[in-house]
Amino acid sequence: MLKFFQVLVSLVAIGFVTSSIAKPIQIIAAENFYGSVAEQIGGHYVQVTSILNQPDQDPHLFNLTPRVAKVLERGNLIIYNGLGYDAWIQNLLSVGSNTTRTLICVADLIHKKEGDNPHIWYDPDTMPILAKVLSNFLIKTDAKHRKEYQANYQRFIAQQQNLRQLIERIKAQHKGISVIATEPVFGYMARALDFRMKGTPFQYSMMNSVDPSPKQVQDFEHDLQQHQVKLVFYNLQVSSPLVLHLLQQARLFGIPILGVTETQPMRTTYYQWMQGQLKQVEQALDERH
Ligand SMILES: [Zn+2]
Repeated sequence: MLKFFQVLVSLVAIGFVTSSIAKPIQIIAAENFYGSVAEQIGGHYVQVTSILNQPDQDPHLFNLTPRVAKVLERGNLIIYNGLGYDAWIQNLLSVGSNTTRTLICVADLIHKKEGDNPHIWYDPDTMPILAKVLSNFLIKTDAKHRKEYQANYQRFIAQQQNLRQLIERIKAQHKGISVIATEPVFGYMARALDFRMKGTPFQYSMMNSVDPSPKQVQDFEHDLQQHQVKLVFYNLQVSSPLVLHLLQQARLFGIPILGVTETQPMRTTYYQWMQGQLKQVEQALDERH
């Protein structure tokens, strides 16, 4: 009997607690780096679900499941990349029954167009713009917590400024160097660093799961053999015999290789992730001297 009473008391307590806290704003992010930014800006008042969150899978090959379709239905706000990177979500959104939700297509925010490199979260200008839009949305939806959202936004922007400083530091040492990649994942960041990216046609073939032409492969090998590039980026989320072969060639000719991911690794923030990768770039380039 005592036990029953205790259970009853705790149920009442839970009921009391949940009714005194506002329902969190439901944010669904197609990719976890956008979910991560939403968590940082929304803090305690949002519940974020990220759909693509496995750094060991190729997001370009993602297959939609009924579970994901259901998750999407409960979103007050949905964030997705666009540029064909997550075409599955656009198809779903066009048939969904929820009409009150807000949609953010990040590619639209930064005025990218179909055919542009879809890995736009590697552009250091993208997330500050998204963070501003998120903060405006949250303040409009939940004006009571305006101060918190503003403070979270300021903290996020401070981190992005640190990233900028790191970029400037690497640029000061290494700007203008030629680099190459097996896929265009790091492309925008390479541009921010003022690196000259070689082998772009090869990268787009790989990204689109098309066999690169013999000429594209030859050019890549030539750049390695002739030391035309100082660093080789590859995508840790994709493995192919051709990429393995090229990485082996790079090692043979003493050119540093650096694996990057397109999905944010678990238990990191966007800032930690980008900072970590930039420091790896810096280290790889410094070790050469
Ligand atoms: Zn990709």
